[in-house]
Amino acid sequence: MRSDPRAEPARSGEAVKTDKRRPKEQVVRGIPVAPGIAIGAIYDTTEAPAEAPRRRISEEEVEPERARLTDAVKLSRKQLGKLKMRLSVLPEEAQEELAPLLDAYVMMLGNSRLLRNAARRIGEEHLAAETAVLDESEAIAATILAAKDDDKAGLLRRAQEVREIARRLNRNLLAAPFRSLTGVPAGAILVAEELTPADAALLDPSRIAGVATEEGGADGHTAIMLRALGIPSIVACHGLTESAQRGDQAVLDGTTGTIVLRPGQGALDKAKEGLAAFAKERAKLAKLRQLPAITRDGELVELQANLEIPAELPLIAQAGAQGIGLLRTEFLFMNREDLPDEEAQVIAYEQIVGAMAPDEVTIRVLDWGGEKDLEARAAGIAPTHGGPNPALGLRGLRLLLKRPELLEAQFAAILRVADKGKLRILLPLVTTPNEVKQAREIYDRVARRLRRRGVALPEKLPPLGVMIETPGAALAADAIALEADFFAIGTNDLAMYTLAVDRADAEVSHLYDPLHPAVLRLMQFATEAALRLRMPVSVCGEMAGNPRLVPLLLGLGIRCLSMNASSIPRVKQAVRALDIDDCARFARRVMEQSDPERIQELVMGFGQPATDKAKG
Ligand code: PEP
Ligand code: MG
Repeated sequence: MRSDPRAEPARSGEAVKTDKRRPKEQVVRGIPVAPGIAIGAIYDTTEAPAEAPRRRISEEEVEPERARLTDAVKLSRKQLGKLKMRLSVLPEEAQEELAPLLDAYVMMLGNSRLLRNAARRIGEEHLAAETAVLDESEAIAATILAAKDDDKAGLLRRAQEVREIARRLNRNLLAAPFRSLTGVPAGAILVAEELTPADAALLDPSRIAGVATEEGGADGHTAIMLRALGIPSIVACHGLTESAQRGDQAVLDGTTGTIVLRPGQGALDKAKEGLAAFAKERAKLAKLRQLPAITRDGELVELQANLEIPAELPLIAQAGAQGIGLLRTEFLFMNREDLPDEEAQVIAYEQIVGAMAPDEVTIRVLDWGGEKDLEARAAGIAPTHGGPNPALGLRGLRLLLKRPELLEAQFAAILRVADKGKLRILLPLVTTPNEVKQAREIYDRVARRLRRRGVALPEKLPPLGVMIETPGAALAADAIALEADFFAIGTNDLAMYTLAVDRADAEVSHLYDPLHPAVLRLMQFATEAALRLRMPVSVCGEMAGNPRLVPLLLGLGIRCLSMNASSIPRVKQAVRALDIDDCARFARRVMEQSDPERIQELVMGFGQPATDKAKG
C-alpha cells in the first residue's frame, strides 16, 4: 500500500520525504551560476496558494478569459511534462509514488470535467477564469468527499488532487510572482523548483546565503539576476526539491555547482575553509580596483558593468567599473500591476545616471517578452494570449514598435536626464535595419516634442545603439551598422537563437554553448562590420564576464566588455596579463576550428604549456 503523501495540500514532491529514504549526506549537482560558498539551513519555497479575489467579467471578456484559461492549461501541462521527465533521476520508490500522481494531474488538464465546467462557468456565470477554476474544483471536491466509500483517506486524496491541479492552474493564470519570499529566514539557502527573474529581483542578498533551483540555465535572466546580487547560486539541480527538506543543513558551492545536503563534519570543515579562501581572494582582487584595465603591451580595455536593479550601484562603484554598459530597465516594470509613467522613469534614470556621472550609462529600452512573457502579460503590455513561442514572438523592440507609446515614454524619460551625465540608448532584439530606422524616427520625434516643450536637450542626441543578439542581426550587421551608432553584442540570446536552445531550460542546458563556432562566427562578423565603420562595439552578454574568454574576445577586436560588477576584478586581472598580439593569434587559431569541443579545449588551455593533445 502506498503512503498518503497528499494528506496535506503540498507540493507533489512531499511524498518521498520520509526519513528512511533520506541518506545522511547527499550531494546534488547543478550548473554553477554565481560563485561563493553558503552554509545554512534549507528554506524550500512551496508556492503560496494563488489567492485571486473573486471576480466577475462582462460578456466581451468571456472569450479573452477562456483564452487565458487555455494558456494556463498549456503552461501547466508543460510544467508537469518537465516534472515527469525528471522522475528518472529519483529513487525508484519515489518514482512509483509520483508517476501515477502526475498522470492523474495530466488527465485533469485534458478533456476533464474541471476544464469543461470552468470554461462553461466563464461563459454562463460570467466568472473570471481563476474564480471559475476555483468554484469548479471545490464543486468536484465536494462531490468526491460526499461519495459513499469506506476509504475516506482515498476520497480525501482524490479531492486534494483536484484542488492541487486547480491551484497550479490558478498560479499560472495569475501570471505574477506568486511566491512570497519575504519570510525567508536570515542566512537560509533558498531552494525552489523554479525562480522567475521577478522573484529573483525581490531577494535580499544580505539575508539569503544561497539559492539552488531545479530549473534554469546558466545564462537565463534569473541566473544573471542572482549573479548580479552576488548570492552564491546553482540552477538545474535535478532532484533537489525531492531530496531537500526545510530546515536541513546544507553547504552550497556556487563555483563548483554542488549542494551538499545534511553535510557531515568533513564537508562542513571543507566549506569553512572554502569560505575563508573566497574572502581572501576577494580582498586581493579588491586591490585591483584602482589599476587600469590595460594589456601588457599598453592596449586599454573598457570594463563596464551590467545593472539589473539600482541596489547594485554600490557594488558597481566598489568594482571600479568604467560606467554601465547595459542597464536592463525591466526592473522598473517588474513586480507591479501598473506601468511606470514617464515621471517615475525620470526619477529612476536620474538616480542611476547621477550616481555614475561622469562615467557613461547605456540604457537599454524595455526588453519584455520571451522569458519575461508572463510578467509582460500580467502588466498588460503583451497580448493576454502569449503566442505559441514567446521567445520568437512579440519581444524586445518588436513589442515596443507595436506599442509605440511605451517606447515614446521611455525615450522621453531618458532624454530628460541626458544633461545629468553621459548617456547612450540601446535597442533590444533587433533583426532588421528597418526596425532601427523606425525606432530612430520615434526617437527624433520625441526629441523634437521635448524641445518644443522647452526641455533643454544636448544638440547631439545620445547615441542610439543596437543589441546584436539574433543571428539575423549578426548576419545583417553591415546593413544595420549604417542605421546604428554603436553595437552591443548580446551573447546570451545570440547563443540561444543560433543554437535553438532555450537559455533558461535545464533540459537542454548541455547544448547551450556560446563557444560554438556558429556563435563565434556571428560575433566575428558583427564585430568586423562595426570596426570597418569605426563604430563602437562591446560585448555585454555573460561571455564578457568570464576571464577565460578575455583572450578570445580581445583577439576578435573587442575592446569594451560589460558584465556583472562582481566579475570585473577577475576580468581586469586577465586583461592585465595579456598581450594583444597573442590574443589576435589565438583568436585566429580558434576561428579556424569547427568543432565546439576543440574550441573549449583551446580556450581552457590558453596560456597553459602546450601538450601534444592541445596543439592545434
Ligand atoms: C544578451 O542577450 O546577451 C543580453 C545581454 O541581453 P539579456 O541577457 O538581457 O537578454
Ligand atoms: Mg538579450
